[in-house]
Amino acid sequence: MRPFRLFAAVTALALAVTSVEAEPLARTLFGSKSMPALGASEPIGSYARGCASGLMQLPETGPTWQAMRLSRNRHWGQPETLSFIQDLSAYAATLPGWKGLYIGDISQPRGGPMTGGHASHQIGLDVDIWMLPPQSLRLSRGQRESLSSISIRTADQTRINGNWTPAHAALLKAAALDPRVDRIFVAAAAKIAMCNQATRADKRWLQKIRPFYGHNYHFHVRLKCPPGSRLCQTQKPTVARLSNGGDGCDETLNWWVTDMLNPPKPTGKPKKPAKPKPVKKSAKTYVMSDLPAQCRTVLAAP
Ligand SMILES: [Zn+2]
Repeated sequence: MRPFRLFAAVTALALAVTSVEAEPLARTLFGSKSMPALGASEPIGSYARGCASGLMQLPETGPTWQAMRLSRNRHWGQPETLSFIQDLSAYAATLPGWKGLYIGDISQPRGGPMTGGHASHQIGLDVDIWMLPPQSLRLSRGQRESLSSISIRTADQTRINGNWTPAHAALLKAAALDPRVDRIFVAAAAKIAMCNQATRADKRWLQKIRPFYGHNYHFHVRLKCPPGSRLCQTQKPTVARLSNGGDGCDETLNWWVTDMLNPPKPTGKPKKPAKPKPVKKSAKTYVMSDLPAQCRTVLAAP
């Protein structure tokens, strides 16, 4: 190759590399928007790969709730999410020791991948609800930054602790029975406690309660795609085993407090080293071209 051609090739390569590097992350773009995209309320894409137009802000204090950590500006949701919070918090206020609910993150003003903290919560249909029973719904903004929630499980993750009450179980059951709800993520110890308490005749609702990492300071409610929202991708059901009536109160649940915490030692011949897997993209690494095309419009909208 002649020197000039070599130079041109190197320059082209360098430009290509810089343009890849320079492509902004979707989470940076969506994280910098402080107001929602005007337009009809619409979830676009999937819970962990999407965005939303026309999101509405949860009033920071309602008759039976307070939104927490206001500085994060993540209390934007679909109208269905806001009315669900209204309804569940009204029920919570009827439980002994609960004045209502403390509400954690919903979504950013335009949804999308977040600058930190969650893989999902991208389309305005996920909401985190604190395990801490509200004693006051008159917390100042400052108190809502500094107050912490409580964990409902033991430090070794295997059991619920003294913070878990029948009211917690009643609240999760009410959420699971709500037809708008698709699934609820909570620490396995809580689901085990609810499976042990449930009667044979009344445990179908436990199907919606999904054990997951963390989720001991809050539980996470995921709503179904609202009827008519054609750009919203419904999640496939993921219950692994239906061996016990489809409620998930089975060995797949027990795994979370046994093998997951103490993986069994490998036996037999050592396996061949696995081929390196391609790096999977995630909320942390998505660029705009990884999201549904409509998200560009959402980002650019007034
Ligand atoms: Zn969550």
